[in-house]
Amino acid sequence: MTNVPSWQDTSYGSKVRVARWLVEVVGEGNLFTKTAMREAFPGVAQIDRRMRDLREAGWVIDTNREDPILNSNEHRFVAEGEPVWLPGRGKARPKSTLTATQRSETMRSDSYLCRSCGVGAGESFESGPGTAQLEIARRQVKLADGSTETQLVTECNRCRVGNRGSEADLTELLRRVDTLGPVERKALAQWMEADHRTYSILEKLWGTYRSLPADARGAVKQAVCGESQ
Ligand SMILES: [Zn+2]
Repeated sequence: MTNVPSWQDTSYGSKVRVARWLVEVVGEGNLFTKTAMREAFPGVAQIDRRMRDLREAGWVIDTNREDPILNSNEHRFVAEGEPVWLPGRGKARPKSTLTATQRSETMRSDSYLCRSCGVGAGESFESGPGTAQLEIARRQVKLADGSTETQLVTECNRCRVGNRGSEADLTELLRRVDTLGPVERKALAQWMEADHRTYSILEKLWGTYRSLPADARGAVKQAVCGESQ
């Protein structure tokens, strides 16, 4: 490739150099520590900030906020963004930062809950350490007319990592809704109205049955399925 500077080329600015350092030294998908980064750029002021500035150019660099596996000194270089070393590139794209209004509107519409796992801000996760932080994620949504648009959704710091890059397909979802019988469709409508899943008598019975000891399950199964089962 031409016009790609080395990270050690001090004729470039520190944002370009830290971008090249990530690509050449760290490598996409790998962890690095703040300590290692500072050691690579001795005497460069605010190298942390220059590294964070890359996010505005589409670079994905996780902290322990996005990825709870990381400790507070670690980052993960998830994905390369725009080639900030090319002339005229690397300026922040105007639409890349959400406004305070967009953030608060999205949180309010989503009832201040992670739409993937249902956790609220500051609540403990069901498993593992840490408490949830709610963030706004961009989700590609394929609309019923076939076009795709970016919509905003509230997710916790865990789910956001897992859902990165996923796309919602409304055409497929609506096609599957169409296959539901009237009883299922009515149940789904009730959950949607309540924005909460309620359990039918069938599911409650199943839940109780499933947790029984084997002998007790056998007795119930015989009563329901009959001797021939
Ligand atoms: Zn979540």
